[in-house]
Formats: sequence, structure tokens, C-alpha cells
Amino acid sequence: MSPRRNKPKKRGKDNPAHGSEREIGASHQSIEEHLEGIYMVRRITGSSSTKPYRCPGCDQLIPMATPHTVAWLEHDVESRRHWHTACWNNREKRKPKIERTRNAPRY
Ligand SMILES: [Zn+2]
Repeated sequence: MSPRRNKPKKRGKDNPAHGSEREIGASHQSIEEHLEGIYMVRRITGSSSTKPYRCPGCDQLIPMATPHTVAWLEHDVESRRHWHTACWNNREKRKPKIERTRNAPRY
């Protein structure tokens, strides 16, 4: 019996705002913030793409063995979609700015 407790080192290094760090084990996976929420984004290499998918960005097929991007809402695996990497990136750029309305106050 050891009287010492095994203290985990907590040095404020980890960010308590993101409680899902254990899910980012895979090296090609990252988290992106979008208007709809937090997206998990995974880059698929050509060799791990074994069947064609339809890209929701341009409605074209992504042929198999083509590197592309998979993204889904953090808490909704059902929302998982395969995107052309370019389409996914364009989608990000396209995201509307909520605050840009005619009545927005100017500084
Ligand atoms: Zn596309």
C-alpha cells in the first residue's frame, strides 16, 4: 500500500474548453469551427479511399483512390460526408458573415 496518491500533472496546459481531445488521436484528424458547430475533419489519402463518394459541395463523384476530406459534426456522426478537399475549403470561405447586415453599427 502506498500512501502517496498518483497525482496527474495538471499545469493548465490542456485547454478545458475542448473536452474532446481524446478523440483526436488520428494524425490526420483535426477540429474546425463552423457556423453549424464543431466539425471533425479528416484527410483521407488516396490509398485509404476504396470506393467513390458523392461530394455534397459540387454534387460530383469523388473517384476512388482520390485523396479527399471527410467531415462531420462533432456530436453527430450521422452527418459524416465526403468532400473534395477543394470543395470543403471553399465551403469555409463561403461561410456567411452573420454580423454583416445593413443595420450593423459602424465604428
Ligand atoms: Zn466537390
